[in-house]
Amino acid sequence: MGRARKSKTSKRDKYASFDMADEAEEDADLPKDEAGRRKIKRQYAELLGIRIEKLRGRILNRERINKTIEGIYFICGGCMKVCHSLDDGLEEDPNNVNNLCGACAKQKAQAAAAAAREASAPARAPSRKRAAAS
Ligand SMILES: [Zn+2]
Repeated sequence: MGRARKSKTSKRDKYASFDMADEAEEDADLPKDEAGRRKIKRQYAELLGIRIEKLRGRILNRERINKTIEGIYFICGGCMKVCHSLDDGLEEDPNNVNNLCGACAKQKAQAAAAAAREASAPARAPSRKRAAAS
Protein backbone atom coordinates (compact mmCIF):
# COMPACT_ATOMS: atom_id res chain seq x y z
CA MET A 1 0.00 0.00 0.00
CA GLY A 2 1.10 3.54 -0.64
CA ARG A 3 3.82 2.35 -2.91
CA ALA A 4 4.47 4.50 -5.94
CA ARG A 5 3.28 2.76 -9.01
CA LYS A 6 6.07 2.00 -11.36
CA SER A 7 4.95 2.34 -14.88
CA LYS A 8 7.01 1.57 -17.90
CA THR A 9 4.52 3.19 -20.20
CA SER A 10 4.82 6.61 -18.59
CA LYS A 11 8.48 6.62 -19.47
CA ARG A 12 7.65 5.59 -22.95
CA ASP A 13 5.00 8.28 -23.26
CA LYS A 14 7.53 10.84 -22.27
CA TYR A 15 9.67 9.93 -25.21
CA ALA A 16 6.69 9.56 -27.48
CA SER A 17 5.60 13.10 -26.72
CA PHE A 18 8.69 14.33 -28.46
CA ASP A 19 7.13 13.14 -31.63
CA MET A 20 5.54 16.26 -33.07
CA ALA A 21 3.17 14.37 -35.31
CA ASP A 22 1.60 12.71 -32.30
CA GLU A 23 1.01 16.00 -30.61
CA ALA A 24 -0.54 17.57 -33.64
CA GLU A 25 -2.92 14.69 -33.91
CA GLU A 26 -3.93 15.09 -30.31
CA ASP A 27 -4.54 18.78 -30.79
CA ALA A 28 -6.79 18.15 -33.74
CA ASP A 29 -9.26 16.42 -31.49
CA LEU A 30 -9.53 19.40 -29.19
CA PRO A 31 -12.07 21.92 -30.42
CA LYS A 32 -10.68 24.33 -27.80
CA ASP A 33 -7.80 25.42 -29.96
CA GLU A 34 -7.71 27.14 -33.27
CA ALA A 35 -6.71 24.12 -35.33
CA GLY A 36 -9.60 22.13 -33.91
CA ARG A 37 -12.02 24.95 -34.49
CA ARG A 38 -10.87 25.31 -38.07
CA LYS A 39 -11.68 21.65 -38.57
CA ILE A 40 -15.12 22.08 -37.06
CA LYS A 41 -15.78 25.14 -39.17
CA ARG A 42 -14.90 23.16 -42.26
CA GLN A 43 -17.20 20.37 -41.14
CA TYR A 44 -20.01 22.83 -40.62
CA ALA A 45 -19.48 24.26 -44.08
CA GLU A 46 -19.51 20.80 -45.63
CA LEU A 47 -22.49 19.70 -43.62
CA LEU A 48 -24.54 22.77 -44.45
CA GLY A 49 -23.56 22.97 -48.09
CA ILE A 50 -26.01 25.14 -49.98
CA ARG A 51 -28.12 25.72 -46.86
CA ILE A 52 -25.39 28.02 -45.64
CA GLU A 53 -27.07 30.74 -47.69
CA LYS A 54 -30.31 30.38 -45.77
CA LEU A 55 -28.50 30.37 -42.48
CA ARG A 56 -26.19 33.26 -43.14
CA GLY A 57 -25.97 35.64 -40.24
CA ARG A 58 -27.18 33.00 -37.79
CA ILE A 59 -25.46 31.46 -34.83
CA LEU A 60 -24.77 27.76 -35.22
CA ASN A 61 -23.53 26.75 -31.83
CA ARG A 62 -22.31 28.15 -28.55
CA GLU A 63 -19.77 26.45 -26.35
CA ARG A 64 -18.25 27.31 -23.04
CA ILE A 65 -14.50 27.47 -23.33
CA ASN A 66 -14.08 28.33 -19.68
CA LYS A 67 -15.98 30.17 -16.96
CA THR A 68 -15.77 33.53 -18.65
CA ILE A 69 -15.24 32.84 -22.31
CA GLU A 70 -17.93 31.61 -24.62
CA GLY A 71 -17.07 30.40 -28.07
CA ILE A 72 -19.64 30.90 -30.78
CA TYR A 73 -19.80 29.29 -34.17
CA PHE A 74 -21.80 31.35 -36.62
CA ILE A 75 -22.23 32.12 -40.28
CA CYS A 76 -21.19 35.63 -41.09
CA GLY A 77 -23.99 37.66 -42.65
CA GLY A 78 -21.45 39.49 -44.76
CA CYS A 79 -18.96 37.01 -46.21
CA MET A 80 -21.13 33.93 -45.50
CA LYS A 81 -18.22 32.03 -44.01
CA VAL A 82 -18.49 29.76 -41.01
CA CYS A 83 -16.71 31.73 -38.31
CA HIS A 84 -15.79 31.35 -34.67
CA SER A 85 -16.03 34.31 -32.35
CA LEU A 86 -12.53 33.80 -30.97
CA ASP A 87 -10.78 33.40 -34.30
CA ASP A 88 -12.75 35.67 -36.58
CA GLY A 89 -14.36 38.07 -34.17
CA LEU A 90 -18.10 38.49 -33.79
CA GLU A 91 -20.47 41.39 -33.79
CA GLU A 92 -23.50 39.74 -32.35
CA ASP A 93 -26.88 40.73 -33.68
CA PRO A 94 -29.47 40.67 -30.88
CA ASN A 95 -32.05 39.47 -33.41
CA ASN A 96 -29.75 36.67 -34.56
CA VAL A 97 -30.27 37.41 -38.21
CA ASN A 98 -27.16 39.32 -39.14
CA ASN A 99 -24.22 38.29 -37.03
CA LEU A 100 -20.98 39.49 -38.55
CA CYS A 101 -17.35 38.48 -38.34
CA GLY A 102 -14.83 41.07 -37.23
CA ALA A 103 -13.73 41.97 -40.73
CA CYS A 104 -17.27 42.41 -42.04
CA ALA A 105 -18.38 44.32 -38.94
CA LYS A 106 -15.50 46.71 -39.48
CA GLN A 107 -16.37 47.08 -43.13
CA LYS A 108 -19.99 47.71 -42.27
CA ALA A 109 -19.04 50.30 -39.66
CA GLN A 110 -16.82 52.07 -42.14
CA ALA A 111 -19.53 52.01 -44.79
CA ALA A 112 -22.05 53.33 -42.27
CA ALA A 113 -19.69 56.08 -41.22
CA ALA A 114 -19.07 57.03 -44.82
CA ALA A 115 -22.80 57.05 -45.52
CA ALA A 116 -23.40 59.20 -42.45
CA ARG A 117 -20.72 61.61 -43.57
CA GLU A 118 -22.25 61.83 -46.99
CA ALA A 119 -25.73 62.30 -45.58
CA SER A 120 -24.66 65.07 -43.23
CA ALA A 121 -22.54 66.87 -45.78
CA PRO A 122 -24.34 69.33 -48.03
CA ALA A 123 -25.25 67.73 -51.28
CA ARG A 124 -22.73 68.87 -53.74
CA ALA A 125 -21.75 67.70 -57.13
CA PRO A 126 -18.31 66.19 -57.19
CA SER A 127 -16.01 69.13 -57.67
CA ARG A 128 -14.38 68.87 -60.99
CA LYS A 129 -11.79 71.21 -62.23
CA ARG A 130 -13.10 73.02 -65.20
CA ALA A 131 -11.31 71.79 -68.19
CA ALA A 132 -9.46 74.31 -70.25
CA ALA A 133 -10.38 77.19 -67.95
CA SER A 134 -7.48 79.23 -69.10
ZN1 LIG B 1 -17.61 38.10 -42.58
